[in-house]
Amino acid sequence: MFLFKKAQALQAYLEHIKSTNQCVGFVPTMGALHQGHLDLIKQSIEDCDYTICSIFVNPTQFNEPSDLEKYPRTPAKDIALLERVGCDVLFMPSVMDVYPPGLPTQVNISFKGLDEVMEGTFRPGHFEGVAQVVKRLLDLVQPDQLYLGQKDFQQYRIVQHMLEQLQLPISLIMAPISRDDDGLAMSSRNVRLSPKGRATAPVLYQILQEVRNALDSNPPTEAIEKGKSLLDGKEVKLEYLEVVNRQSLRTMVSSDEPAVICIAAWIDGVRLIDNVLVN
Ligand code: AMP
Repeated sequence: MFLFKKAQALQAYLEHIKSTNQCVGFVPTMGALHQGHLDLIKQSIEDCDYTICSIFVNPTQFNEPSDLEKYPRTPAKDIALLERVGCDVLFMPSVMDVYPPGLPTQVNISFKGLDEVMEGTFRPGHFEGVAQVVKRLLDLVQPDQLYLGQKDFQQYRIVQHMLEQLQLPISLIMAPISRDDDGLAMSSRNVRLSPKGRATAPVLYQILQEVRNALDSNPPTEAIEKGKSLLDGKEVKLEYLEVVNRQSLRTMVSSDEPAVICIAAWIDGVRLIDNVLVN
């Protein structure tokens, strides 16, 4: 695996690959890699000639400075995992490389309200930062295929919208959520859970399943109440539990819409998100 820390060096290498018309798959991450990231990378390796993974803890998408500070960083372990899985290139840029002084990197598009619901309500400015870093990384890597996880469904939908608005010739692929055996969605933040918090955390997936089952015979508001009842007696601070249309991310109104049930909650001082699709 090649490791590049400078954008210029990466681009010189990519020029050679591009000149041979090979398909490049790109998996952007913030590191502290787990099996969910590796599953995305494996999918790209299967589909593409070259797979590039980036590790960059993007300061502009953190609305809480303490969250940025506490974000887990395990570069040596990440490099070993990527080598093992057969990733071709790892790009680990510095903040200066991603945001060189004087280079305008803000993405000036309308998100059509996609950024104003769920995560957008609780993390103001988060999606501006996500769009900014994804656009900048895409400019540097210029992949043919971009791989994102369903785990961050709203992020996936917003990036999809951005690719359409900017007419970028990149295929977007959404990979399913990788889970631990007890159903907890894998996340870099899970390592920050205490044993008690880790034991509580699978309730989020149980709630999502409860809501999905209840939707078969109940309107969304009642299905959500049934889901919430699983929180009784649990030390969980729920931020939102919503059933939304997969395109508009607005509250589902008709049962034949393709929908997604999304949840965000604090457990033991750690903010976790998860979702399930409803067909
Ligand atoms: P992150 O490092 O958390 O920014 O995530 C990088 C990419 O990995 C994003 O596209 C995430 O949606 C994806 N991802 C994170 N956790 C999972 C998971 N458990 N299953 C599938 N994809 C994931």
